[in-house]
Amino acid sequence: MAIATIDPRSGETLATFPPYDDQRVQSCLAKAAEAFDSYRTIPLDHRSRLLRGAADLLAADREAVARTMTTEMGKPVGQARAEVDKCVKAMHWFADRSPDLLADDMPQAEDVADSGAHGVRVRFRPLGVVLAVMPWNFPLWQVIRCAAPALMAGDTVLLKHASNVPQTAQLLQDLFTRADYPDGCFQSLLVSADQVAGVIRDDRVAAVSLTGSESAGRAVAAVAGEQLKKCVLELGGSDPFLVLPSADLAAAVETAVRARVQNNGQSCIAAKRFIVHIDVFEEFESAFVAGMRRLDVGDPFLERTDIGPLATEQGRTEVEAQVDDARDKGAHVLCGGRRPPEQPNGWYYEPTVLTEIDPAMRVHHEEVFGPVATLYRVADLAQAVTAANDTPYGLSSNAWTRDPTEQGVLARELQAGAVYFNGTTVSHPAFPFGGIRRSGYGRELDGLGLREFTNPTTLWYG
Ligand code: NDP
Repeated sequence: MAIATIDPRSGETLATFPPYDDQRVQSCLAKAAEAFDSYRTIPLDHRSRLLRGAADLLAADREAVARTMTTEMGKPVGQARAEVDKCVKAMHWFADRSPDLLADDMPQAEDVADSGAHGVRVRFRPLGVVLAVMPWNFPLWQVIRCAAPALMAGDTVLLKHASNVPQTAQLLQDLFTRADYPDGCFQSLLVSADQVAGVIRDDRVAAVSLTGSESAGRAVAAVAGEQLKKCVLELGGSDPFLVLPSADLAAAVETAVRARVQNNGQSCIAAKRFIVHIDVFEEFESAFVAGMRRLDVGDPFLERTDIGPLATEQGRTEVEAQVDDARDKGAHVLCGGRRPPEQPNGWYYEPTVLTEIDPAMRVHHEEVFGPVATLYRVADLAQAVTAANDTPYGLSSNAWTRDPTEQGVLARELQAGAVYFNGTTVSHPAFPFGGIRRSGYGRELDGLGLREFTNPTTLWYG
């Protein structure tokens, strides 16, 4: 894939960037390793000051950064601004909280005595150079979510961003440079996917974090495994959205529409499979379809637009193939299911609702990365749980019920990294984020995410 900014509204190539050659990659690796040698010793309050400075610069650049993201991957510009705000907030959160979260762990006194020591503590020392392989869908947030904690932990970061967001990658590097981070602490590597294995294999790289597709995850994890290097994977999801009879139905419908189409339907934690109890199914279905039909599909730079174009031509082709497969196998298309006729150029796709889903259909077991919802009818809570878990993924889940007994069952039974009751999944810096099964492993955000790229070192004093 060429490293290029291609306008998803038209398919026009706006700018191309030659990939770094081996010599330039080597020089970035050397700089990252050299930077780590000194940056790791910088006190935490200094690291906090640097990160706060970067956050303030980002806040000041809000509009320009938002417009760059929208240009490169097509998200509605209001959502791009919200992404910038979210990053600024997370940077402040990590700047403020990391000193506590990285403070030494002190084992219980009786365990210390039992070990024969006078004192024991666990220190979270930095790990080294972290390679961040990142996707285009939240081109700022996914990077900051990895880089802010890594930099607070004392690591240095090399970013391999998706090939279609090179200008966002560049502005991230410029941001950390302007914020006075020592040279080499954060660098963007303009490289293609097939150059990544060589970077992971390099002795100067300690660990890798990837957000993206299952196939990219497998490729990166295989090399990290071969090299015995720490790896965190945040992959796809096909999150269930359960609606049970005690739900506030109006709120559930409103949230369901928003959850499915956020970011033009291209979010790993978007609710994708809507599993509705038979008692409220018809009411939910008609209100949900009406809500999806009302959405405005169009130019992402217009403030009124709800859904812009999909980020890549290949992405839209894939969504079309998944919907066509479902239709061919008997699914009912309640709305959408086609390119909008009024948007002949660009990679637009209408908000779509499918029902009568069969396990043989691709949409049943694959992630659909576009504004396409699948609707399932279930007879009771047990069927709802079975349907929710009938996926190879396990990122997050949403459950609408006001019944505490049902909430207890769902908290125990839903196989995912999170269960959001009466709401929809939204990542927050204070809560761990990540999945199980084919959604990956490891956690981001919170103290768990912060400690992923540290070396928890036992210090034993006799
Ligand atoms: P990819 O997973 O291919 O891209 C994510 C990142 O991984 C990019 O930086 C990409 O680089 C890199 N990458 C891809 N293949 C390899 C590899 N073999 N070795 C090393 N790095 C690699 O996402 P796509 O854009 O192709 O999207 C395909 C599907 O992935 C989507 O339809 C969706 O289902 C899922 N996806 C999920 C995301 C999530 O948030 N969970 C985010 C993005 C996609 P390059 O761009 O140069 O190929």
